[in-house]
Amino acid sequence: MKVLVINCGSSSLKFQLIDSATEALLAKGLCERIGLDGSQLVYQPEGGEKEKSLSPMPTHTQAVSLVLAALHNDKTGVIKDLSEIGAIGHRIVHGGEKIAQSSVITDELLQIVEDCNDLAPLHNPANLIGIHACREVLPQVPMVAVFDTAFHQTMPEHAYLYGLPYELYTDHQIRKYGFHGTSHQYVSKRAAQLVGRPYENLKTIVCHLGNGASICAVKDGISIDTSMGMTPLEGLVMGTRSGDIDPGVLDFLQKKAGLNWDEIIDMLNKKSGVFGISGISSDFRDLEAAAEKNDPAGKRALDVYEYRVAKYIGSYVAAMNGVDVICFTAGIGENGPDTRANVCAYLGYLGIEIDKEANAIRGQEKLISTADSKVKVYCLPTNEELAIARETVALVK
Ligand code: ADP
Repeated sequence: MKVLVINCGSSSLKFQLIDSATEALLAKGLCERIGLDGSQLVYQPEGGEKEKSLSPMPTHTQAVSLVLAALHNDKTGVIKDLSEIGAIGHRIVHGGEKIAQSSVITDELLQIVEDCNDLAPLHNPANLIGIHACREVLPQVPMVAVFDTAFHQTMPEHAYLYGLPYELYTDHQIRKYGFHGTSHQYVSKRAAQLVGRPYENLKTIVCHLGNGASICAVKDGISIDTSMGMTPLEGLVMGTRSGDIDPGVLDFLQKKAGLNWDEIIDMLNKKSGVFGISGISSDFRDLEAAAEKNDPAGKRALDVYEYRVAKYIGSYVAAMNGVDVICFTAGIGENGPDTRANVCAYLGYLGIEIDKEANAIRGQEKLISTADSKVKVYCLPTNEELAIARETVALVK
């Protein structure tokens, strides 16, 4: 079966077409600036050139139609007929407390997603638009929703409750939910395969270090804690997000710096993180280049970033009473040998030793710890789209 995987944002739509039998990627692409001037479709058949075409996309429905046209165009299309698409898997950001696993999309499920709009106001409404657009264009095709939060629904109460009045949880569902669940699950399962041990009997820490970044403690096959919270702002220092800060800072900013709430939240989401600390960039390639030229701002940002990652790893070792495997994944985790090495340099007390030569890789699945290391450390590329395709096939079969 061919599965179309959709990740829909408010003005963008990323897609991949995956052959579930071989798990091969057939084509991928992106619609940008939907509903805006200058909208563009980027389409790339596997092994082929990237094609960019400016096309008006007033709505997401239009965008989905253009994606389908690209997928079965005469020259570079990868399917002969739209009926070859057997299912669609949608990435949904927030499923709240009601969703602990992927689900076939029904009207009831859409209501649950809509009920979570307040918890993810930037993402869930956009995800829903993507689902409605696909329903309009391909009404016969079964669809599955795969949630970023679902994997973390196994967290125990002592991990997900904040130190706030309990009514805030019961009345407003204010608690830690966690994100990147699809990636954390995919990577931790793959790690178990690589070390040849049962997933249900392994302590793994997954460091998903992309623009957005989170760490997850996976014990005996379930998520027991993760660094993102009710929103993706908590936890690690990220590309442009602050991660954990003293809530007292917010009051200070309002009173002393005269910022209003929208400005504060915008700053925490878009102007903070390594971008804010360095004043250079949110991209680690730029920061590493700056640090190499002895620019203290670049080095400072990297130091803060790596320290926070190491600190979270330490806390999850405590939470699990040990760790067997640590995995680095996503843009920086997969492509940042220095970041991996510097984080692991804090972890000598765990008996972790990094093999310098093995670690000198980018974007490959590889054991990067030495044979003597007490904990196995992997560079392990994530593949959220493949994970979504697998979940989708399992549910529609
Ligand atoms: P997201 O999916 O959250 O947008 P990614 O997982 O694609 O993020 O990660 C993007 C980040 O990965 C970039 O901002 C950059 O910092 C980092 N990155 C990508 N390639 C490299 C590289 N070759 N070296 C160091 N960092 C890299």
